[in-house]
Amino acid sequence: MDFHFKAILQSDGWVENARISTDDKGVITSIESGEDSNAASGYVIPGFRNCHSHAFQYAMAGLAERHDRDSGRDDFWGWRNTMYELALSLDPDQVEQIATMLYKELVRHGYTHVCEFHYLHHDKDGSPYGNLAEMGERLIAAAEAARINLTLLPVFYQKGGFGKDPLPEQRRFISRTLIDYASLLQHTIEACKHSEYASAGIAVHSLRGVDPEDVVRTAEDLGAELPFHIHISEQVKEVDECIEHLGLRPVEWFLRKIAVSDRFNLVHATHITDREARGIVKSGASVVLCPSTEGNLGDGIFPLKEFQDAGGRWSIGTDSHIGLSPFEELRLLDYGQRLISHRRDTFTGSSESSGENAIRSAFFAGVNATGEETSEYFEVGKPLNACVIRDDVPLIENCELEALGDRIVYASDATWIKGTVVNGRALWAG
Ligand SMILES: [Zn+2]
Repeated sequence: MDFHFKAILQSDGWVENARISTDDKGVITSIESGEDSNAASGYVIPGFRNCHSHAFQYAMAGLAERHDRDSGRDDFWGWRNTMYELALSLDPDQVEQIATMLYKELVRHGYTHVCEFHYLHHDKDGSPYGNLAEMGERLIAAAEAARINLTLLPVFYQKGGFGKDPLPEQRRFISRTLIDYASLLQHTIEACKHSEYASAGIAVHSLRGVDPEDVVRTAEDLGAELPFHIHISEQVKEVDECIEHLGLRPVEWFLRKIAVSDRFNLVHATHITDREARGIVKSGASVVLCPSTEGNLGDGIFPLKEFQDAGGRWSIGTDSHIGLSPFEELRLLDYGQRLISHRRDTFTGSSESSGENAIRSAFFAGVNATGEETSEYFEVGKPLNACVIRDDVPLIENCELEALGDRIVYASDATWIKGTVVNGRALWAG
């Protein structure tokens, strides 16, 4: 395939009149910048990597917003009860349908890859399916139908809280032992081998969800070459209970007990101290921030400014899918920081452009979270994954190239997206 765009964004700025050729697998064979041409259309930024998803939760997006005035406060833990009700009600066909609907929407919004933090493993009564990876295979089928790349992260979930047995309503999530989890992981890895869209990674639900010794062994003994994801420090209550049971804050404990490296992705990390932030940076790990869900659940605000100033790397995820736009995630992330700092220079980096700096961090940490490697947005030898912005929108038509990244990140809506290219295949909107 030959693509001819008005401009493509690379990590150091825009390249005008870009011609990109791909082979029959969608791998880029050449990138050239030529003369102006009427055939060129669209402005291209790298396809977004969505680094945290619980696909089934899309079915309840916007449906946990009725708050009974007589029953006291509603918070994350109340939302979780509603989510458990949904999790207990779904069969594999329904999960596949919901995930297909979601993944198609993610592609429409400019995502080309999703990391699925998958813990709905078992049948409704808690017994494993005959095929341990039944639900995982349904998620792979959904990714194939939507044509989005998938990093499938089967989640090790074992406990109902620090030192507590699992709750009955968590029965579909549970691997009782490390051996049970290793078997689930192995089946998932095998299932992914049959799909051109899927690869596997490792996930631990949280420090409250798995016995501490098994967290260490999962990180050290299983799939050392795979990306590792874990929810951490999302809730104040979780931090307090971790101190009570393990004597340390969650990130402190994790960094002290495990040889953390750049394959580790800490999801949320909302409630961390400056010391923990510096520790994450030093370890090479990234954080995965999910601003629309974190806002919806009232989690708190991640200390991005301090983390970024220390050299921290971050990606984005849509988590519960209350929001699906990557631009909305970036804006919410930025505006949360602006509101608490009274400053406007949140996204710093190698460019003066906040928008370009945001895209750069979300891209490189995002690619890392998927388990892949790259050194540039668009590179010969790598698949073409792109988000194409229309060139006939008034605010785009009347914009200097240098300002385009900011205009797209801060002023766009979903109608600006002309389409998404996944592995060289153009999926044009509308
Ligand atoms: Zn999550």
